[in-house]
Amino acid sequence: MIELPSTQTLAKRIASKTAQQVENALASVRPSIEDLAALLSPAAEEYIEQMAEKSAEITARRFGRTIQLYAPVYLSNLCSNRCAYCGFSADNSIPRRTLTLDEAEEEAMILHGRGFNHILLVSGEAPGVLGFEYLKALTLRLKNRFAAISIEVQPLTTEEYAGLFAAGITAVAIYQETYDRKTYDQVHLSGPKKDYDFRLETPARVAQAGMRELGIGFLLGLSDWRAESLAMGLHLQFLRKKFWRTALTVSFPRLRPAEGNFIAPAPVSEKELTQMIFALRIFDHDVGLVVSTREHARFRDGMIGLGPTRYSAGSCTAPGGYGNPQENTGEQFAIGDQRSLDEVSQAIRNKGHDPVLKDWDAVFQKSGARNQKTETGTKQQAA
Ligand code: SF4
Repeated sequence: MIELPSTQTLAKRIASKTAQQVENALASVRPSIEDLAALLSPAAEEYIEQMAEKSAEITARRFGRTIQLYAPVYLSNLCSNRCAYCGFSADNSIPRRTLTLDEAEEEAMILHGRGFNHILLVSGEAPGVLGFEYLKALTLRLKNRFAAISIEVQPLTTEEYAGLFAAGITAVAIYQETYDRKTYDQVHLSGPKKDYDFRLETPARVAQAGMRELGIGFLLGLSDWRAESLAMGLHLQFLRKKFWRTALTVSFPRLRPAEGNFIAPAPVSEKELTQMIFALRIFDHDVGLVVSTREHARFRDGMIGLGPTRYSAGSCTAPGGYGNPQENTGEQFAIGDQRSLDEVSQAIRNKGHDPVLKDWDAVFQKSGARNQKTETGTKQQAA
């Protein structure tokens, strides 16, 4: 299991960084974790333009002029947890709904009709109504219609992740929400999610299961973003070293207004979010950087080409919201960028970049699973 220093220790490391150390980090070919600390520091604020240039150059070299696009499908807003910051918290009196498999397929097909080839299946944590069997059955229905199907649901077992990968799931997103143990305990009032260590171990279980892609992140606004970002950098480094076959992505979800009216204790400004994105890109050249519709159109358009590689578009965060936009089924949070897929695609083209709706084919997954099976078999025989 990964062991992380406390966020207080990380905050001190960051605060001690000097302008000279920022310049060294910018000049480094393969920045270290100490370079990341320098790039996240207050001393780096004076170097934001140089950071933008370097981040853009690395992104263009590694990812070309492309931005991948996806949309979420909310399957259920039922949840057994009480997370103080979330509209789906069991505490909140919102209309609750879990889509049937037919309804979920219909929602996904609406997105398919709009041109999406990559969807993210999202739900609250209610394994009694939406667990492995539901996800597997839905994946089997959808896998021939979409190039990529990701999930963002409750933590599962390694065997369940392997089973979903075999069924056609291509990626799993699992966010720590906060790497600060004290804050984690304070905002997770009750429910299975209260177990910090179990959640921290989940990304490794996903990768161990052979999943093609794994997304990590924390909720921006709960605690000191600089220390959180360094903790995430350490987590990223650990996963990359241990599971080199799994592609990694990082998301930057800033707290948005939601039912329950939670006030962010440590709000993160757009300028700080920008520094964080540039720092992560300079630290890890290969990581996919995801900016969702939580952010406003102006910010997202301004970031095209500077670091992010994937955007959501045309999103709705309420179950059944694509088929019945008028029906109030309880959304998770308010959307910042309301534009359609076509509008976001046009904004990307206006910046001289290409919107990409398909970057994967199921045939790769089949051959990947075959190779994995062969490797496992070889290892077992050798053991
Ligand atoms: S953040 Fe996730 S686990 Fe927590 S209340 Fe919301 S949906 Fe449930």
